[in-house]
Amino acid sequence: MDRYLIETPHEAQDCQKLVQQVYAMGYLMNFDWGCKSGVHSGWAIIEAESEDQARLAVPPLVRSKARVVKLVKFHAKDVKPLHKT
Ligand SMILES: [Zn+2]
Repeated sequence: MDRYLIETPHEAQDCQKLVQQVYAMGYLMNFDWGCKSGVHSGWAIIEAESEDQARLAVPPLVRSKARVVKLVKFHAKDVKPLHKT
C-alpha cells in the first residue's frame, strides 16, 4: 500500500455540500480543513493501491479539481551530508 495526499480546493459556498459528501463516503475523520481560516480546501492522507484507487476517496463535487499526490518518506540514508569534508 502506498500513501496518497488528497487535496480538495473548493469555493466557500460549497463547504457544506462537500463535507456532506465526505461524510456520506465514510471519510469524514480522514480529512482536515482550512475553511475556518479562509483557505477552502480539505486534506487527507489515505492508503491506497494506486492513484486511481486513492481518487475514489475524493468527493464527486471536486473530483475534477482535486490533487492526488503519492507520498514518500526520505530516510536518513537518503539525505546528503550538508558539509562534505
Ligand atoms: Zn470550505
